[in-house]
Amino acid sequence: MESCNAVEKEVDKVVSKLQSFKKYSNTTIQELIDTMSQMEQDFESGSDVEMTEGHTLVLKSSIQKIKDVTTALTSQHRELHGTVSRVGKAIDKNFSPDFAAASKEGLFEDEKSLGMVNQVVCEHFLRKGYLDIAEELMSEANLKIPENYKEPFSELNTILESLRQRNVQPALQWAAENRTKLSAQRSQLELKLHRLQFLNLLSNGATLAEAVEYARQHFQHLAERHQKEVQALMGCLLYINNGGLQQSPYARFLDNSLWTDIYQVFARDACALLGLSVESPLTVCVNAGCTALPSLLSIKQVMQQRQVNMWCTMDELPIEIHLGRKCQFHSIFACPILRQQSSDHNPPMRLVCGHVISRDALHKLANSTKLKCPYCPIEQNPNDAREIHF
Ligand SMILES: [Zn+2]
Repeated sequence: MESCNAVEKEVDKVVSKLQSFKKYSNTTIQELIDTMSQMEQDFESGSDVEMTEGHTLVLKSSIQKIKDVTTALTSQHRELHGTVSRVGKAIDKNFSPDFAAASKEGLFEDEKSLGMVNQVVCEHFLRKGYLDIAEELMSEANLKIPENYKEPFSELNTILESLRQRNVQPALQWAAENRTKLSAQRSQLELKLHRLQFLNLLSNGATLAEAVEYARQHFQHLAERHQKEVQALMGCLLYINNGGLQQSPYARFLDNSLWTDIYQVFARDACALLGLSVESPLTVCVNAGCTALPSLLSIKQVMQQRQVNMWCTMDELPIEIHLGRKCQFHSIFACPILRQQSSDHNPPMRLVCGHVISRDALHKLANSTKLKCPYCPIEQNPNDAREIHF
């Protein structure tokens, strides 16, 4: 952001200089034009009079004035180049043009890795509903994605498209087909879809009998799990003939955000049901990469000064880069003693006193059957420590 501000400052300078130059040149040129047309008129009106010495002098001085003004304008314009080129310099200074150093060489060179990248890109297109682009990529990159893998994506995209057009029918049908699985993951999808459909009926002028009939048909199996919500919907019925929902305590149900919400709820629950992540893995990777890039570039600078390669032989960076909560998918534990992230080989261990350290640290600190907790000096048997699973 600082870099952007620095460049913007230079751009502002150029804009203000250009504006004042334009104003100045416009007025001076207009003045010259006015003088010349005045002179032209004078000459025309006195066409039969011969040109006197005075006339010649006036003409000469006017020509000289025009020359002076144009020279002045040209040199002023030339000075602007300096300001413009400073913008370029500011960009060079504030932004690194070399991102190559932040990537690991040869990572995608072998056939297998390249195939995986193509597959991830292809899956991204499938998820986003760009089926034709995905097909094209599949044929060009020789990818073999099974037909049954593509199917759910095209189905989901059709449903999402209908939801965008405020048609909940296809989504409702899908939810009914997958009811058992959806309730197993405590999804509210079906309730929310029926709620929208019910409210649609009410706002489209359905009679009380029609609304009650809808409720009877669809709310019965929902009432058990979502009693309060169903009660609120039944409360809406009181206002059908009494000024409408807009004037009722249930006006919140008419909020447009319910439609944005249902779109997200459907995408999330459907992806969870199919065992897919809500966000496309490619989007997550690109976002994480963009967030990490500034840190990677600064590490690169430090590493270059110390003449070490940023990507050591291990698949790890020399420092931890925080990507924010959005990119955090599971809890991690870093041993406070060894300052290392726990792994399958070195899991976190809970001591009797409640403090947690890694197993390697536990072994290092233990003395046969005695261990003194490094945080509270409680003495205990290291064998009493229990492994923790996140
Ligand atoms: Zn302790």
